[in-house]
Amino acid sequence: PMIKLGVIFGGRSGEHEISLMSATSVIKAIDKEKFQLVLIGITKEGNWLLYDGPVEKIEDGSWQQEAEAALANDPDKYGITVLGAGGKSLKSIIDFALPVLHGPFGEDGTIQGLFEMADIPYGGCGVLGSAAAMDKALAKEIFAKRNLPVCRHLMLQKEEIEENLQGVIQRTEKFLPYPIFVKPSNMGSSVGISKVHNQEELISALQLAAAYDRRLVLEEGLDCRELETGVLGNYNPEVAAVGEILPSAEFYDYKAKYFDGGQSKMCIPADIPDEIAQEIRVIAAEAYCLLDCSGFARVDFFLEKGTNKVYLNEINTIPGFTKYSMFPLLWAEAGFAYPNLIEKIIDLGLERYKVRH
Ligand code: ADP
Ligand code: MG
Ligand code: MG
Repeated sequence: PMIKLGVIFGGRSGEHEISLMSATSVIKAIDKEKFQLVLIGITKEGNWLLYDGPVEKIEDGSWQQEAEAALANDPDKYGITVLGAGGKSLKSIIDFALPVLHGPFGEDGTIQGLFEMADIPYGGCGVLGSAAAMDKALAKEIFAKRNLPVCRHLMLQKEEIEENLQGVIQRTEKFLPYPIFVKPSNMGSSVGISKVHNQEELISALQLAAAYDRRLVLEEGLDCRELETGVLGNYNPEVAAVGEILPSAEFYDYKAKYFDGGQSKMCIPADIPDEIAQEIRVIAAEAYCLLDCSGFARVDFFLEKGTNKVYLNEINTIPGFTKYSMFPLLWAEAGFAYPNLIEKIIDLGLERYKVRH
C-alpha cells in the first residue's frame, strides 16, 4: 500500500507565511503515484485542519476558510484529534509526517515531540536536535565548548531587561562593541532581529526581541559575507556545496529574505577558496552531529571580510524549502533533484524510526 504522507504546513509561528510557500513547493513536487498525500494545515491560532482542496489556495492563506467550511459540513470526515482517543487520531490518517513548518512550534522540537508521543515517523531532526538548534544562545554555547568558531555573544533573559534595563545596557556595552545584533533566541527568518548602532537603538531592539522570546542573544556585528551549506543524513551525514547569500539590505532581514522582488541573490557554489569551503563543510558536519541533528539541516556561516575568518552562525533544521530556496539548490548542485531530495528525507525519517524501535 502507498505511504500516507502527512504534509504539515502553516503553524503558530511568525514564519507561518514562509511555511505556506515552502509547503506549496513540496506538495507540488511529491510523486502522487508513490505517496498518498494528506494535507494538514495548522492555523496561526494552532488549530489543526485537514485540507483536501487545491494546492494553489495554500500560499495565499485561502485554504483555511475552505478547510474550516469542510470541517463544519462534515466533522466526521474532517475532524482530527492530535493525540487523543475518540475521533480520528493523527496516527490513523498518516503513516509519516513531514513537517514543513518554520520557527517555534514547528522547527523547535515541540511538534517532533508530539510525533514521538503519537508514534509516527517524521522527516527532519528529532526533538533534541530541533530544540538545540532552534535556541541560538544555547547552540552557540555548545558550539563554543567544542571549539567551533562562534562570534562574541551574550545571553539575556527577558526578565533581566524588565527588571534592570540600565544594568543590561552597561553589561552589553562593556562586552560588545557596536554594531550589535539583538535577536530572540528562538526564532527564524530574521523575525525580531535588529542591528543596532547606538544605545537608543539597543533599547528598542531589546524590547522588540523580548516580545518574541524569553531568552535573547546579543552578538558582535561582523563585517562579513554569508555562506551556507546543506547537511543530509542520520549517521555520517553528507554535506552539500557551499553557497553565498548576497542580501539586498544592510543585513539579511525578513524583507530581504522574501519580499524584495528578487534583489537578494544566491551564488552557488560560493566564490571562495577551496580551503575555506572545505573548512566550512567540516564544521557543518561536526556542528550537525554535535546537536544530534538527523534527516537534514542547513548550516549557516559568516566569513569575516579582511581576516577571512570563518564563524559558525546557526543551524536551521527546517530551512526554506521552495524550489528556489538555498537548501534545495545546494543539493541540486550536488546532483539531487528536488523531488529526490524530499524522498531522501522521508527515507531518512523512516530509517531513524527503525533504529529507535
Ligand atoms: P535567523 O534564524 O532569523 O535567520 P540569524 O542569526 O541568521 O537569524 O540572523 C539573521 C541575519 O542577520 C543573518 O542572515 C545576517 O544577515 C545577520 N546577522 C545575524 N547575526 C549577525 C552577526 N553577528 N554579524 C553580522 N550579521 C549578522
Ligand atoms: Mg535561523
Ligand atoms: Mg539565519
